[in-house]
Amino acid sequence: MSSGVSSPSEVEAIVRKVLAQVRTGDAPAKAGPPAKPHGVYKTVSDAVGAARIAQSTLVALPLEKRREIVASIRKHAAADVHTLARMAVDETGLGRVEDKIKKNLLVIHRTPGPEILEPQAFTGDDGLTLIERAPFGVIAAITPCTNPTETILCNGIGMISGGNTVVFNTHPTARNVSAYVVDLANRASMAVGGPDNLFTCVADPTIESANELLRFPGIRLNVVTGGPAVVKAAFAAGKKCVAGGPGNPPVVVDETADLEAAARGIVAGASFDNNIICCDEKEVFVVDKVYDRLMEAVVRAGSVQIRNHQVTRLEKLILTADREHTNTKWVGKDASKFLKEIDVPFQGDPRLVVCEVPFDHPFVQLELLMPVLSFVRVKDVHEGIDLAVKAEHGYGHTASMWSKNIDALHRMARAFNGSIFVKNASHYAGLGFGGEGWTSFTIASPTGDGLTTARTFTRERRCTLAGHFRIV
Ligand code: NAD
Repeated sequence: MSSGVSSPSEVEAIVRKVLAQVRTGDAPAKAGPPAKPHGVYKTVSDAVGAARIAQSTLVALPLEKRREIVASIRKHAAADVHTLARMAVDETGLGRVEDKIKKNLLVIHRTPGPEILEPQAFTGDDGLTLIERAPFGVIAAITPCTNPTETILCNGIGMISGGNTVVFNTHPTARNVSAYVVDLANRASMAVGGPDNLFTCVADPTIESANELLRFPGIRLNVVTGGPAVVKAAFAAGKKCVAGGPGNPPVVVDETADLEAAARGIVAGASFDNNIICCDEKEVFVVDKVYDRLMEAVVRAGSVQIRNHQVTRLEKLILTADREHTNTKWVGKDASKFLKEIDVPFQGDPRLVVCEVPFDHPFVQLELLMPVLSFVRVKDVHEGIDLAVKAEHGYGHTASMWSKNIDALHRMARAFNGSIFVKNASHYAGLGFGGEGWTSFTIASPTGDGLTTARTFTRERRCTLAGHFRIV
């Protein structure tokens, strides 16, 4: 990866520095977006109009200016990362401030910029053909409440790196923090002589404004990130779309795994931001022979194990009466809140609630988005892989395996036909956090784009000169 994208150790160093500077909860959240936020419009039409003007300005600027704008957005966002995290938790009621700081820093430093748009050249007896990536123009983007600022920064950096501007219809429950980061990005652009309105958004987003935006005349690319309904809406709009949809990422642990490392990695991953990240671990299949030992290590790593009537109480709390859906009130809450509510004693601030259930249990089958992790006992690794693939429901999102058996790892890597497969690490390693490669918060499995970058948000153009300009 070339300049602009930090290494994992750099990201971790930055995270440590920021966490050292800010004692979580100390810095007061700003009450909402500034009085006159840049890029925030009443109507979809006004937001698109402003983004159109900004796009024609952006493409007329030198590429070096584009690089400066992207660097300035990274810098301004990093400087304000605590506010972004605190505002998101306060407004949405989801996740943990300290984890949102990490998520934002990951996006700020490891979302690729313009450097990923390398041109290609073909030369030969017939001359020269040049292939470059060109902007779509104004892009429409729909963003989730689970990673509000992360998705806006990640989409926005990639989109403007490709010469586009973007209109966001953000999640209604995250509209203030979303407007705040839209304003921040525009101010960062103007601070280095770039245009205003590179990012725009609708002040009061609704499902109606989302659908108006998805169908807005002249917009050629829709990018959506969310659950099944918004993915369906994007396909229904009848335009080219890039869609990041839901997941239900399984984990398989076999008898050859380093159980202590597996337990630590699973607890860290599944509890990250209270499990609201789409790729976080959602259910675990463990070979019977090592099940009890793994569970003991999972508890040592910061989980509270619940059993029997405690599980029944949790079911009543977080599932609807028909057991087919989750009670969304509990999405993204701290583990301690669940434990208090179901009357289970605990100490400190546990990261995760864990329990053993059968394969067909709703805790396995549903995407809970809560720090509640289900464990299923399996007779061998083959049963584990088969059930894991089944539990993923064909979303093709994320899965992982803890094993030292290369045949088993190989089998699961092929059997799970998804965007991210992680071996012997937390799922967030697949997002470039403690793993190699760039990050993205729009993992576009339904449309086959995988972890989106500026490349995803651009179109290919070719220029051919026959007979000349080959230099050897
Ligand atoms: P959500 O689906 O409720 O909302 C996402 C966005 O879509 C919001 O802006 C919402 O207003 C909009 N929306 C919802 N229904 C719509 C409709 N019918 N028409 C138009 N717009 C609509 O999701 P959420 O609760 O914000 O986020 C959690 C979900 O998103 C989970 O399912 C998670 O797996 C998924 N997700 C996926 C990715 C990915 O990269 N694949 C990333 C983040 C979240």
